[in-house]
Amino acid sequence: MKRIRLSKSSISNVELTAVAEVLEKEYLGMGEHVSFFEQEIKKFLNTSKQVVCVNTGTSALHLALLGAGVGFGDEVLVPSLTYVATFQAVSASGAKPVPCDVLPDNLFLDTNDAKNRITDKTKAILPVHYASDSSRMNEVYELARDNNLRVIEDAAHSFGCKRQGKKIGVDGDVICFSFDGIKNITSGEGGAILSGDDELIQLCQDARLLSVEKDTEKRYSGTRSWEFDVKNQGFRYHMSNIMAAIGRAQLKRYPDFSIARKRLAEFYLKNLKIAEIVFLKLDYENIVPHIFVVRAKNRDELRLFLDNAGIETGIHYKPNHLLSLFKSEYHLPETEKAYNDIISLPCHADLTQDEQVYVIEQIKKFYE
Ligand SMILES: *Cc1c(COP(=O)(O)O)cnc(C)c1O
Repeated sequence: MKRIRLSKSSISNVELTAVAEVLEKEYLGMGEHVSFFEQEIKKFLNTSKQVVCVNTGTSALHLALLGAGVGFGDEVLVPSLTYVATFQAVSASGAKPVPCDVLPDNLFLDTNDAKNRITDKTKAILPVHYASDSSRMNEVYELARDNNLRVIEDAAHSFGCKRQGKKIGVDGDVICFSFDGIKNITSGEGGAILSGDDELIQLCQDARLLSVEKDTEKRYSGTRSWEFDVKNQGFRYHMSNIMAAIGRAQLKRYPDFSIARKRLAEFYLKNLKIAEIVFLKLDYENIVPHIFVVRAKNRDELRLFLDNAGIETGIHYKPNHLLSLFKSEYHLPETEKAYNDIISLPCHADLTQDEQVYVIEQIKKFYE
């Protein structure tokens, strides 16, 4: 039996054909396909917000922070239990990421802990849709309103998910998606910023192309800027036509991905009911799981056992306040507890039911 992967891209002829078409036209960089992808995302989400596609989810977060006016001397509240991308995006903006604790039941940002860490330097709060759930977001927006903070949502896990019946990207201040290889949809690598703040959007559109003013409009109409001004620091963060072609193909296939991922979660929830495994309390109705995380007794031994049985698992994530660069002087008890017992089980659109049955069997065998 071949190794069962924790996560992977799902690539079909739809993506192969789409990429071949771009290659044949010999215009690989940022052009009309990126514009089409942005319009299609907007339509898919049924949102009035504007969409700006970039080369990674990390750069989406970085530009969103810059666009929200976050910079040197500012502080940003962030759950420590996230990929280091979130923290690096904050420090890249010049601001200081302030690690916060999570709630034990769902590993979402604990807003009471975040509240205690607000200072007069706090400029923004950056909640993470951990394991695709963001049902506690109302509390974040309340805290933000009371303290005049911008909210940047790290929605890397939750493309296509819903909150109170509406797709992520409809409500909220600034929302950032990731389309890296293993997320709910991929564009190879990639990301997107969504906001209703026109000034922020304009800044992100320019900053992804070295802050060459209005270069986005030029490229979408098939031309280029020769005579231009530059007023801000910019980056090479734009998305290419090749990436957009993959993303557009994946968006077409999204209904199938959604069914497959939701079915995996249901199957784990139904068939892995044992005392040694604790599920997260998530809004499973509204989510399309990017990762399937449980809390497990003897986690490290279990991981080793599964590895020997040909099953790949993961730990999402090593808390950022334990990393040298982002070390805090304080403890985050729930985050540290979670770091000791969380395990991510195989979860991707191509995982078969037979493979999932085998994973569950092996977990039960370990505890017997
Ligand atoms: C994937 C991910 C990111 C970053 O996205 P990239 O596209 O890989 O740069 C940020 N935050 C979280 C929680 C992620 O899982």
